[in-house]
Amino acid sequence: MAHQRTYLVLENYIGGKFTPCSSHIDSYDPSTGEVYCKVPDSGEQEVELAISAAQEAFPEWSSKSPEARSQILYKLADLIEAHLEEFAQAESKDQGKTITVARNIEIPRASYNFRFFASSILHHTTDCTQMDRMSCTHFTTRTPVGVAGLISPWNMPLYLLTWKIAPAIAMGNTVIAKPSEMTSVTAWMMCKLFDEAGLPPGVVNIVFGTGPRVGTAIVSHPNVPLISFTGSTSTAQYIREASAPYCKRLSLELGGKNPAIIFDDANLDECVSTTVRSSFSNQGEICLCTSRIFVQKNLYKAFLEKFVEASRKWKVGLPSDLTANMGALISKEHLQKVKGYISQAQKEGGKILCGEGIESLDIPDKNKMGYFLLPTVITDMMDDSCCMQEEIFGPVTCVVPFETEEEVIQRANNVKFGLAATVWSQDVGRVHRVAKKLHTGMVWTNCWLIRDLNLPFGGMKASGVGREGAKDSFEFFTEVKTITMKH
Ligand code: NAD
Repeated sequence: MAHQRTYLVLENYIGGKFTPCSSHIDSYDPSTGEVYCKVPDSGEQEVELAISAAQEAFPEWSSKSPEARSQILYKLADLIEAHLEEFAQAESKDQGKTITVARNIEIPRASYNFRFFASSILHHTTDCTQMDRMSCTHFTTRTPVGVAGLISPWNMPLYLLTWKIAPAIAMGNTVIAKPSEMTSVTAWMMCKLFDEAGLPPGVVNIVFGTGPRVGTAIVSHPNVPLISFTGSTSTAQYIREASAPYCKRLSLELGGKNPAIIFDDANLDECVSTTVRSSFSNQGEICLCTSRIFVQKNLYKAFLEKFVEASRKWKVGLPSDLTANMGALISKEHLQKVKGYISQAQKEGGKILCGEGIESLDIPDKNKMGYFLLPTVITDMMDDSCCMQEEIFGPVTCVVPFETEEEVIQRANNVKFGLAATVWSQDVGRVHRVAKKLHTGMVWTNCWLIRDLNLPFGGMKASGVGREGAKDSFEFFTEVKTITMKH
């Protein structure tokens, strides 16, 4: 009898019900290259139904007290935590990231996103001013905007989706969300918890499918006044154009080309180990990953030697391997794109110091078609080369020398992106001067990716528009109104 392959088949979640879709997109296991899951290939019709469900749920949800909404968010956080292991296993299989990252960082953070906004919604205040000469008091009120359209990418699937859903519903909006078609499983699993958490039907609707079909239908729909998007700069450009006729509120969290600036008084061991982590964590598939490393001339040789040695030790393995630092890249196309940058660097005279083929990897035969790539370090690149200018979004980083503070600030800023930077120096004055002059939304000094969710997250230039965080998300997901009272 012929062996019948079975797939995980996902369904849309609309108006509190799972609804099957007639056609599907293949979703691949990045560690084997095999199809293992079928994701709904939804279109305008499903989007229409989801928006209607969200509109219907809006009056009641938006008029609940913040305390009542907060309780539901806390419950959701607890439920995700109670199912942490299932979520972590699913995320690692779907995305290719290591189980360690999914279990210790991303799923706990997805749960924390709900907990954080469950708390922060209780503590916001609005403004009030007095104008005695006119006998007036002015004050502001804030109200939810309506149906929020939330679109997220594939690199940190549940972590980034919940970073949008949590503030949107905490502030009283209802939601139509679309995760990436390449990583939809954990969003679908989360839908199974909504009812138990007490979330009324229609408050969160998730429609699975591609960007051109589902994404387009959301961003160009007149009844979705707000779009929060995380993804590439090119998709954001399309979203700006498609949403322009409706004057939508946009929050765009986009790509980066993040520099690490290492002065010769930096603590060498610390900056090497952190910069390896900042370059290759999650296969380099984090918008905040370092991809240009500027090292001051006197430290350059010592840094490079230690950095290459540490990069070679950054272990690539199966996502389930507890000793692996890095798993598989998201897709065959993405792997080819990243490899294309490495070949281009060679053509442009770049030297590849490590990142040899994966033939040496000790992995089972069934994983040989997986999308693995070793951490790759390139030197001798010009600042205007494509590897120094474009977002690669993989485990590839360039190391180049510099001489002076002014020079490195100018070179670090010389890209279209402006998301994040790291600065390494023991000189406090220098760290402050440089941080202030960098054209990036975030600067980490002598560390990387330590976040306080209260503070703004977001980029400058082609890295985005708007900020997210406690106060920023509160402002984005609410409409403000100024009321003046004459005494
Ligand atoms: P992408 O732009 O291809 O896709 C992002 C999402 O948009 C997906 O859900 C996709 O289906 C959808 N989409 C695609 N075309 C669309 C369209 N025409 N209309 C509406 N939606 C559409 O990005 P990606 O490849 O999934 O993610 C990688 C990118 O995301 C990188 O550039 C990375 O830097 C960026 N990113 C940024 C942040 C941040 O916070 N700044 C975080 C993570 C990832």
